[in-house]
Amino acid sequence: MNPDLTRFQPAFRMDPFAAFDLERTTTGGGAVPFVVGERRWSVYRNVNLSVYSGQVCNARCPFCVEELRPASRGTALSLQKRVEPDDARYFERLDAVLALTRPLDPTLSITGGEPSLDPRLPGILARIAAHGLRKRTITTNASGLLRPLPGGGDVLDALVAASLAHLNISRAHWDAEVNQRVMRIDPPQTEADLRRIVARARDAGMRPRLSCVLLAGVVDDLAACERYLAWAAGLGVDNVVFRQLMRYDPRTTAPNGVTRFTDTAAVGLRPLLEALRPSTSDRPGHPHFRFVRHVVGYYYAVEVYAYDGPAGPMDVCFEGADLAAIEARRDADAPLHELVFHADTALCSTWQPWDGRIF
Ligand code: SF4
Repeated sequence: MNPDLTRFQPAFRMDPFAAFDLERTTTGGGAVPFVVGERRWSVYRNVNLSVYSGQVCNARCPFCVEELRPASRGTALSLQKRVEPDDARYFERLDAVLALTRPLDPTLSITGGEPSLDPRLPGILARIAAHGLRKRTITTNASGLLRPLPGGGDVLDALVAASLAHLNISRAHWDAEVNQRVMRIDPPQTEADLRRIVARARDAGMRPRLSCVLLAGVVDDLAACERYLAWAAGLGVDNVVFRQLMRYDPRTTAPNGVTRFTDTAAVGLRPLLEALRPSTSDRPGHPHFRFVRHVVGYYYAVEVYAYDGPAGPMDVCFEGADLAAIEARRDADAPLHELVFHADTALCSTWQPWDGRIF
């Protein structure tokens, strides 16, 4: 029987292992066939295609997921990040991949590195729009969004022209100086720019969302989350996700600065969320957070809340992820859960361009 994901399930609390069942708990509810040449794959029905920009990031977040992913598989970002040098070849392959995956009707996300600084981004956006992919999103530290483009307008105009639905902006703290100490972006993210970006995105029908990692001594309890929400609401944002630093399996991971930082700075979501259990006969729920639903991914689990506190009404998500779950579900016959178009033009089912190659 399918569990009702709009009812709080204590066993699912931020636990991808406990929550995931492809047929019963995911939004896609199963897999579909995907034939490429002689090979036949089985792919998650609501699969996401990530266009992984080859642009090196201009921040130095000590928790960088881009670095943690290869480390969790015993390798390094410098080996994972290969870039096709020829523009014509890159875009010819991107077009081919978008056509090939069209029957899967994937959602589409652009990620990096820092995609807003990628000279190829306008071309990527034009092709994504031309192929009509649904639910298009980008994840960025925002530093290149106001960058003028050679043909006129700026990067944010190009996102709008490509009808992106969501603009996910990483921001670790409401205070710009604290944020800069954590993320070390060059040049720093200013609040004035952020305010301008949010206003323009909203006016154009794109939904800006702020993404905040939970870090010890930075944003590490519910009071700090509410303070962050108040600041976000003041910017005009009504959608925030708080993320626990990704867990990983130390037995398969090559230790680096990110793993060492994660070990000392990670804040557990479960204790933080204890106060957000829905009302029961013997205990009232939280006055500002109303549980809406669970979202269950193959290595992540999300709790979605409707927030109605001093910051005003907002959608708030709390997300936990465990890279070890990816490895645990890896098996030759298992469905492919995600698709990644790498900067070297390989289409793979993993974040390493040499592994799980499809096309
Ligand atoms: S902004 Fe994102 S990609 Fe860049 S260093 Fe921070 S976490 Fe990594």
